[in-house]
Amino acid sequence: MIDIAIIGAGPAGLSAAINGVIRNKKVKVFGNPPSTSYIYKAERVDNYIGMLGVNGKDMMNEFVNHAKEMGVPIQIGKVIEIFPMGDYYMLNVENEFIEARTVILANGFSKGTVLEGENEFLGKGVSYCATCDGPLYRGKTVAVIGDSDYAEEDANYLSEVCEKVYYIPQYKDIKSLNANVEVLEGKPKKILGETVVERIQLNQSDLEVSGVFIIKQNIPSAKLLQGLEMENKAVKVNKFMETNMKGIYAAGDCTGRPYQVAKAIGEGNVAALQAVNYLHSFKK
Ligand SMILES: Cc1cc2nc3c(=O)[nH]c(=O)nc-3n(C[C@H](O)[C@H](O)[C@H](O)COP(=O)(O)OP(=O)(O)OC[C@H]3O[C@@H](n4cnc5c(N)ncnc54)[C@H](O)[C@@H]3O)c2cc1C
Repeated sequence: MIDIAIIGAGPAGLSAAINGVIRNKKVKVFGNPPSTSYIYKAERVDNYIGMLGVNGKDMMNEFVNHAKEMGVPIQIGKVIEIFPMGDYYMLNVENEFIEARTVILANGFSKGTVLEGENEFLGKGVSYCATCDGPLYRGKTVAVIGDSDYAEEDANYLSEVCEKVYYIPQYKDIKSLNANVEVLEGKPKKILGETVVERIQLNQSDLEVSGVFIIKQNIPSAKLLQGLEMENKAVKVNKFMETNMKGIYAAGDCTGRPYQVAKAIGEGNVAALQAVNYLHSFKK
């Protein structure tokens, strides 16, 4: 069992990880590639002390190298859901199940709206994970909504399993899709069906599908963990970065404004130290 599982390999997650490692805890970071961190997009950062004028990508690479040099294990993968198991938690990392005594949410700012029908049909045709649920749609027709080229890999995988895959990109410049994936422009409006998904409504048309894969880099925190208390779309925390759930902490952009690296790093530090305290009290 891991002592501290950290979700997100951005500044907050890596800061939490190095502090957990310094305190001799069994730590592991589960994150999308570091290039998905918001700071990667910054051309120049002037307000992080000691790195005047640094480019965001270089800054992120420094953070990753620092963490790796300190022995932080980073597993690239998306956490799909976290399940409370009494006095520990179970993480679904793209269908690999990991046990952790404490969890630090460092999954960044969650953008994007929830589609009409998305919540209603979650698990009944709506999925956030092609690796987890793709086999259920063998020989069927599915739609994939992707918020970045990150989703193309999932669409390609589904095109090997499904009869037909429609791809509805919500970004420009498709990178690499299999020839049998049909790209459709436009915004998805609604997911429809009786008890399970039957159709998806686009701007102009309805598509008949058995499944809708919504592939975003970032799963909203409240969906990752049922029962997590939110406030103004951010994870509600106290000054120790504790959430309303025992053993669950949050740090960085996912806890709300200001969206800044220094805040993310500081909160990651506090969250890790608090998790360490909890682990110690637990052992008494
Ligand atoms: C263009 C731009 C310029 C900016 N300039 C500045 C600046 O000059 N100064 C400054 O201080 N701040 C700046 N920021 C803000 C800064 O980037 C953020 O505050 C900072 O990156 C927050 O760190 P974080 O670790 O909380 O989140 P992020 O850096 O967003 O990292 C979160 C990570 O978690 C991953 N993740 C999310 N969900 C999951 C999941 N379910 N499973 C696995 N991984 C997951 C994400 O893919 C991402 O890699 C800028 C942001 C942008 C977009």
